[in-house]
Amino acid sequence: MPAITSDTSAETCPDCRVQLAPVVSTKHPYFGCSASCWALYTEILAREYSSLALMKSVHRLTVDAYAAQHPGKTERRTIQSVWVHLAGLYLILERGLANDFATRVIGALTKEAEPLIWLTPPERLGSVTVIDVVEASGAMEHEEAVRRWAHDVWEAWKPHHKRVQARVSRILTLN
Ligand SMILES: [Zn+2]
Repeated sequence: MPAITSDTSAETCPDCRVQLAPVVSTKHPYFGCSASCWALYTEILAREYSSLALMKSVHRLTVDAYAAQHPGKTERRTIQSVWVHLAGLYLILERGLANDFATRVIGALTKEAEPLIWLTPPERLGSVTVIDVVEASGAMEHEEAVRRWAHDVWEAWKPHHKRVQARVSRILTLN
């Protein structure tokens, strides 16, 4: 795993701002993440894929938190990604919906005729990052760290809460 560091050779993630030793690896095609941040995220995913309990409890939140914390620059894919993952955070954290129901609502959101518009990301995208989740030991701590992370990222997007709530709530009443 990339070393967690604050030395001057560290690579800063453009979106979540974690500082990590640079790694040579691939990164996501459109998320605004550094390769080292992406590498830690893939470790988190690997941990979840090997635990049925984590897949059921927080995997969906992990994916939503990471994507919403790394919106990248405006283009067709990022516009949709930000909406989809903010909708996921809203449905699970605020509406308390089950993961698969949230997934169905999000599917409906992407099929609507009304285009999605770019939600300009806030200056700071939260203070909880992949590091907090990677450092958790055991499934219970992992789950707690993901929930803290997801709440933190959702809170960071507060300027757009009303817009997300309105559009997603409309889909809930239509479906
Ligand atoms: Zn990052």
